Amino acid sequence: MHNFSYARPRDVDAALRLAAHPGSQFIAGGTNLIDLMKGGVELPARLIDLTRVGGLAQIQELPEGRLRIGALATNADTADHAAVRARYPLLSQAILAGASPQLRNMATNGGNLLQRTRCPFFYDTAFHECNKRDPGSGCAALGGFNRNHAILGASGECIAVNPSDMSVALTALDAIVQIRSLRGTRQVPISEFQRLPGQTPQHDTTLAAGEMITAVDLPPNALASHSYYLKIRDRASYAFALVSVAAALELEGGAQGTVKNVRLVIGGVAHKPWPVREAHSLLVGRRLETALLTQVADAAARGAKPYRDNAFKVPLMKRAIVRALTEAAAQRNT
Ligand code: SF4
Repeated sequence: MHNFSYARPRDVDAALRLAAHPGSQFIAGGTNLIDLMKGGVELPARLIDLTRVGGLAQIQELPEGRLRIGALATNADTADHAAVRARYPLLSQAILAGASPQLRNMATNGGNLLQRTRCPFFYDTAFHECNKRDPGSGCAALGGFNRNHAILGASGECIAVNPSDMSVALTALDAIVQIRSLRGTRQVPISEFQRLPGQTPQHDTTLAAGEMITAVDLPPNALASHSYYLKIRDRASYAFALVSVAAALELEGGAQGTVKNVRLVIGGVAHKPWPVREAHSLLVGRRLETALLTQVADAAARGAKPYRDNAFKVPLMKRAIVRALTEAAAQRNT
């Protein structure tokens, strides 16, 4: 039995002061952390319950056109919020593709960004080789069953994937993570918030000890009308993505028009959402034709490195890209 202390502060400053103690961890919805504690993967010395902290659950329009989504707003409330649905339908779609209604009612936006990989070797402490759980111990997935693992951006230390659907959409939308600590505030683009494993896979993000996510800001864009989140998984609900695609287009001249802007990000294939930057140079100024979409899919797969059990992800990702872009063009979200 692992003993820990429990605190329930009422404001951010009090929570941050508590977090200065080594071994402290924040908890909000608890939909991931409780499982990790039960399994002995996470053993915090102190839990700091954020659910009574005021001011972090709002979703509000900012003067410069940004939409600020509070870290403690639930995934359900975020997906259902009128401004999110109208201005960022991609985000609503991605959240609703994740978990179950019960989990979305509990899970918070901050927690969603910080959820840990679902690599089974990470969760099962009977496997002693896991560099993410125990740095320097090895990686059981490299020689084990690795059907769900990465095909892009992995390292010899870790081949796990990020499980968050929400993060894939937020990356496509150029979201900015608002962070507070006792030292002050900072803003980090989400593409720099989540990280590749490299030699230090124990770190999923660039969040430092004692820092707290307070909100996620969405800048204005013209991508709402033609956006689509495609999630491919083993069953129709309550499963993590084998491959997912966040596709958003700004089109001139309707669904058959030319591409003015495009955002394309892949989930389920890397330690962080994987942007396909080549989509911009290949598609902008062109009409969406099948041959062009295939070129984008080929570019996305360049450099892919499958492991023993997940080679199927490469053609699956390529077909998913073509379909998601086609669906995005056909959408009329507003
Ligand atoms: Fe651990 Fe990463 Fe290897 Fe999974 S893939 S066993 S999380 S080091």
